[in-house]
Amino acid sequence: MKLKILAPLSLAFIGRCSAGGNPTCCQQLTSVFPALVYFPNSTAYSASLGEYFTEQEFSITPTCFFHPFTPAEIATALPILSASNCPFAVKSGGHGIWGGLANIQDGVSIDLAEFNGVDVDGGEQGTVARVGVGMKWGDVYDFLGARGLAVVGGRWGSVGVGGLILGGGISFFSTRKGFACDTVVNHQIVLATGEIINANATSNPELWQALKGGSNNFGIVTRVDLLAFPQGDFWGGLIINPFSEEAFEHFTNALHIFSSDPEYDENASLIFTYNFDSSTRTWIIISNVQYTSIAGYPSNLEPFTSYEPQLINTMRVSNLSDFAITNSEGEEEGTTRSLYFTRTYVSSEVLIRQIFEIFNSTVYNTLSIIEEDVTWGITAEPFPPILTQYGKLNGGNILGLDPSDGPLILFLATVTWHDSVNDLPITQAIETYFSQIDTLSKSLGLYNEYSYLNYAYKDQKVMKGYGKENLQQMKSLSKQFDPEGVFQRLVPGGFKLDD
Ligand SMILES: Cc1cc2nc3c(=O)[nH]c(=O)nc-3n(C[C@H](O)[C@H](O)[C@H](O)COP(=O)(O)OP(=O)(O)OC[C@H]3O[C@@H](n4cnc5c(N)ncnc54)[C@H](O)[C@@H]3O)c2cc1C
Repeated sequence: MKLKILAPLSLAFIGRCSAGGNPTCCQQLTSVFPALVYFPNSTAYSASLGEYFTEQEFSITPTCFFHPFTPAEIATALPILSASNCPFAVKSGGHGIWGGLANIQDGVSIDLAEFNGVDVDGGEQGTVARVGVGMKWGDVYDFLGARGLAVVGGRWGSVGVGGLILGGGISFFSTRKGFACDTVVNHQIVLATGEIINANATSNPELWQALKGGSNNFGIVTRVDLLAFPQGDFWGGLIINPFSEEAFEHFTNALHIFSSDPEYDENASLIFTYNFDSSTRTWIIISNVQYTSIAGYPSNLEPFTSYEPQLINTMRVSNLSDFAITNSEGEEEGTTRSLYFTRTYVSSEVLIRQIFEIFNSTVYNTLSIIEEDVTWGITAEPFPPILTQYGKLNGGNILGLDPSDGPLILFLATVTWHDSVNDLPITQAIETYFSQIDTLSKSLGLYNEYSYLNYAYKDQKVMKGYGKENLQQMKSLSKQFDPEGVFQRLVPGGFKLDD
C-alpha cells in the first residue's frame, strides 16, 4: 500500500532543535489521535518511560508520548510535527544509552512499542521473518525458535529491534551471516512527508543500503523483513576468571590469535571483557562465548573456555532464546547511569595489551576523584573479514567496513554509576582514554575510522567514520527522501549527518 499525505508548508526554520518545543505539538496530535497521545501521570506514559534502559534516558520527560499502532498513523503525525517545527524523538526498545538518543525533554517522544508483530513466510528470497520494530529480540527468538528458525539479531533479549538493526547489529551469528542490518531484505519506512514506502534491492535500493547503518536519519522504520534460517540448539555461555598477571598475558595473546585467525571459524562468537568494581577494587575477566553449531568445544575457543581458575562457568547446549534472555537477566531499566564509548582498531597483540593497561590506569586515576561505587568495563568484540564481507555480499550497507580493513576488533568501554555529579569526570576519563588509544593506534598503523553507532557516545563522529563517500551518499539521500530535513533538524537524538 502506498499512502501519501502532503505536508503543509513548514515555517522557515534553521538549525537543529535540542529541547523545548512548541507546547501545542502534543495538543495537535491529541486532536487527531485522542486515544494515542499520553501525558505525565498516565499509566501509558509511565510505561513508555519505564522502558528506557539508562537513567539518563529515563529522567527525560517529554511533554507527551505518541503511541501509534500503524504506519498510516505515523504518516499522519509526521507532517503535523514537521509543519509546527515540533522536536521529537523516536523510540523502539529504548535500549540506547545516552540521554536524548530516543527521548526528548519537553518534546514528543514517539514510542513504537505497538509495532510488535512478527510472522514468517517463504518466498523468492528464502524464508523471511517480518518483524515489527517495537519488538524485543527475545520475543522474536521465542516466536522463530518454536518454528526451528532464527534471525541475526541482538544477543541480549531485552534490546529493541528498531535501534539495533538500523545501527548495524552484532549477533551471535554475525561471522556466519553479517551484521543484523545485512540480513534485511526490506525496510518499511514512513518518510517525513507522510509517504509510506518500501526500501529493498529493487525498490529504493539506495535508501535500503543507507538504512543499513543510517539509523534515524531518513524516516521512521516500522517493519524489517529479515532473512531467517534453520537453527537448532548450540553451545554457549559465560566463563568468569579472576584477574592475575598470568591470566592477563594468556588472554592478551589468546584474543589476538582468535581475532586475527585467517581460518576464523564462522560459528565462533566472542565478547571478551575486563570488568572492574571500584568498591572491591578487583578486576574480573568475562568471556561470553557462543559456538552456533551443535558441534561444541571447538579448539579455537578453548583458550577462553578452558583457562583456570574459573569463578563461574555456564557453558551449556541450549537455544537462542535462552542465551539472549539469560544475558539480560538482572537488568533494571532506568535505574543506573551508563556511558558507552567505542572505537575499532586492527588486531595486534601490542595494541591489545596497551588498550587494557591504559584502561587500568584510567580507572585507577579516577578512584581518588569519584567517591561512589562505579563499574568499569572494557570489552573486545572481534570483527574478522568474514564478518565485514557480508555488507557487499548482501547488496551493500553504509557502514564503510570492508574485509580489506583486516581483522578488526571493536573495543567498547562501559561505565555504570548512580550520581549525576560523576557524569563529567567519567566522561572526561573515557574520552581522554580513547584519544590516547587513537594516537597510539595511528602510530602503530592500526587505526580504523569506524565507530559502531549502537555503542557510540553522543560526541563521537560516527557518520564521518563511515567514510566520505558514504556520508555524501547519505546526505544526498536525505535531501531526496526528507527534502525539508525534518530528521536532521527536529530529531536531535541520534547521530546526524552534519555531526
Ligand atoms: C543491555 C544491552 C545489550 C546490548 N546488546 C547488543 C548486542 O548484542 N548487539 C548489538 O549490536 N547491540 C547491542 N546493544 C546496543 C543496542 O544495539 C543499541 O542500544 C540499540 O540502539 C538498541 O535498540 P533499541 O530499539 O532498544 O533502541 P532505542 O533506544 O529505542 O533507539 C536507539 C536509536 O535508534 C533510533 N531508532 C530506533 N528505532 C527506530 C525506528 N524504528 N526508526 C528510526 N529510528 C529508530 C532512535 O531514534 C535512537 O536514536 C545492547 C545495548 C544494551 C543496553
